[in-house]
Amino acid sequence: MIQRCIQCDTTYPLDQVIFTCERCQCVLEIAVDAASLSGVKLSGRGVWRYAPFLPVDVKHRVSLDEGGTGFHDCPTLGKAFGIDRLFVKNEGENPTCSFKDRGMTVGVTKAIEMNAVAVACASTGNTAASLAAYAGRAGLKAIVLVPGGKVAMGKIAQSVVHGAQIAQIAQVEGNFDDAMRVVQELSADTGSVYLLNSINPFRLEGQKTLAFEVCEALGDAPDALVLPMGNAGNISAIWKGFREFKEAGFTTKLPRMIGVQAEGAAPIANVVNEGASDCYVANPETVATAIRIGAPVNWQKAVAAIRDSGGLAATVSDDEILAAQRELAQREGLFVEPASAAPIAYLKKHGIDAGTVVCVTTGHGLKDPDAVLRVAPPIVQVKPTVSSLREALKL
Ligand SMILES: *Cc1c(COP(=O)(O)O)cnc(C)c1O
Ligand SMILES: [Zn+2]
Repeated sequence: MIQRCIQCDTTYPLDQVIFTCERCQCVLEIAVDAASLSGVKLSGRGVWRYAPFLPVDVKHRVSLDEGGTGFHDCPTLGKAFGIDRLFVKNEGENPTCSFKDRGMTVGVTKAIEMNAVAVACASTGNTAASLAAYAGRAGLKAIVLVPGGKVAMGKIAQSVVHGAQIAQIAQVEGNFDDAMRVVQELSADTGSVYLLNSINPFRLEGQKTLAFEVCEALGDAPDALVLPMGNAGNISAIWKGFREFKEAGFTTKLPRMIGVQAEGAAPIANVVNEGASDCYVANPETVATAIRIGAPVNWQKAVAAIRDSGGLAATVSDDEILAAQRELAQREGLFVEPASAAPIAYLKKHGIDAGTVVCVTTGHGLKDPDAVLRVAPPIVQVKPTVSSLREALKL
């Protein structure tokens, strides 16, 4: 395996710490000769089941038993949305309750292999929580920079309890995109600080294992996969996973990749649907804070995934997101955070012409209880008597 620029094909060795091409400044990926993995034996469960597809040595692994998340058949919503077979791959069931753990187990293992003493990220919350947990496990220092305001409380609590050094940019001074720029500069001039945002291609290698799990659960790839997009590392990683599994002969087809953004933070949808030349919106705003991103670092990879797969990019409103969050919770028993409800909102609004559809719910609902309670009616007050309860709840 080798690191390769996705635009000009320049290659770099696996042990070089580099995140953008020296020639053309584009992002890198890990080139994997998947055809040579045909018939390879897979054993165990979760991310490390797919060790032959990963660019780190399993002997060094830093793991919290990530991956192997629930794959839920959702017949009630499927019927309501006119979909034959609808499944939800629920990434809230990971150790720190988001898909970021799949990437972090590989990324922190890589940090250990590179003899880093600290790992760093800019984060809307979930990357920070995951980084903090895995860094603690590995004995590394974790440095986290979050945008001012608008980061869900559960995610901050996780980062703090796992011992990250955490800083917040004053709200008027900047957003996630500024935080991203600052940590990139920090890690560029501090050799021992290893950057673990999704611009890091090793992290994305861990995230591609979601595709492998979905294929093994279904016996082949689905017809379509729908997920939210923020920095768009996940859609890129999962698409790479589907291609590699097919190349290795485990599957016979590829799904359409459908990326969903919030209306107030939709730079990729603007590029795909309106031909915008810049993938940028100045002041991203949405209740789905995990995807409140105006300058996605992986946008070229995401646009390629969408176009090459015959997929699409779509937007949904905050109200549609919150309604979909409640509907998934009330009809299928799955509580996901607002960003994760965006693909459900898309399916509810537009339906889809595909037989088997997999929806990736990226993070757990308990990370952001405020998002639910802000829009919920107040809880009724009663006296401690049955009659009072009956009257209040109309029983
Ligand atoms: C990180 C995150 C996303 C966005 O993923 P990208 O790879 O940045 O597109 C979506 N939902 C949740 C819950 C996340 O934590
Ligand atoms: Zn290049």
